[in-house]
Amino acid sequence: MPLPRGLPVVDHHCHLSPSGEGVAAARRFRAAGGAQLFVATQNYLVHVPRNLDDYRTQFETTETLVREVRAGAGVTAHAVVAPYPVDLVTLAGEVGVPSALDLHLRALDLAGRWVREHRAVALGEVGRAHFPVAPEIAEALETAFRYAIAVARESDCPVVVHSADLDAAGLRELSSLAEGAGLTTGRLVKHYARTRFPPGERGSVTPSYLARRELVRAVLPDAGPWFLETDFLDDPKRPGAVLDIATVPRRARQIAEQDPANADRLWVPFVESVEAVYGFRPEVSEEGSR
Ligand SMILES: [Zn+2]
Repeated sequence: MPLPRGLPVVDHHCHLSPSGEGVAAARRFRAAGGAQLFVATQNYLVHVPRNLDDYRTQFETTETLVREVRAGAGVTAHAVVAPYPVDLVTLAGEVGVPSALDLHLRALDLAGRWVREHRAVALGEVGRAHFPVAPEIAEALETAFRYAIAVARESDCPVVVHSADLDAAGLRELSSLAEGAGLTTGRLVKHYARTRFPPGERGSVTPSYLARRELVRAVLPDAGPWFLETDFLDDPKRPGAVLDIATVPRRARQIAEQDPANADRLWVPFVESVEAVYGFRPEVSEEGSR
């Protein structure tokens, strides 16, 4: 049983690197049946970004990769840009909290400008450290996170959130943070969700689920919006640290073959949720999906 006709297979969160597999990874995604990638920026330097030019260069590198992926792999790719929350932790250790926070906020402004200029579709990753930090660092991260949500609201785009795993209380807290800031419902996306967020407890938070077999099966009947992702790192030094880039199309094909009655549920993460959260409808490219 093939995939539903015209269904574009979308990986909602991956990274690509000029020093990693790059476009070749996108070709493997395409060969497995993938159509669209959301490519989150990352630090491509050996040190933490230290000034706004470092961030500008970083975002431009992501933009170049996205363009190369479109031209060289026939995969539609969307850039997601923001200063990484952990950058703030690292830089604060070098230059102190106030200077590090100042740069972080200016980099968030830059990311917002990129969205408004249609060079990126969302702010990400923003949020919190996934490990314990000193109270003054936690406070600066919180300031930056709230600022990021405000920039997203002004730029009319989603925020893709990096954080530790969320329980019901964590979901409620994030949901009220987004609502209090006036962010459109559903536009706060928790990336790297590793457990099911019951629709009744999700509030206005949209999960982007790690495409593990059992998790995909568990969430497939759920109403949207929700996404599937690999968080592919494209780091040859850390093979297998996250899921491979071919995973989402592989899962989609497994569902079409083993559970054909539910194959149409795949329109939820790949098309309907993108339309609801991002405001555009993904389609298969001219060459068609496989
Ligand atoms: Zn990521």
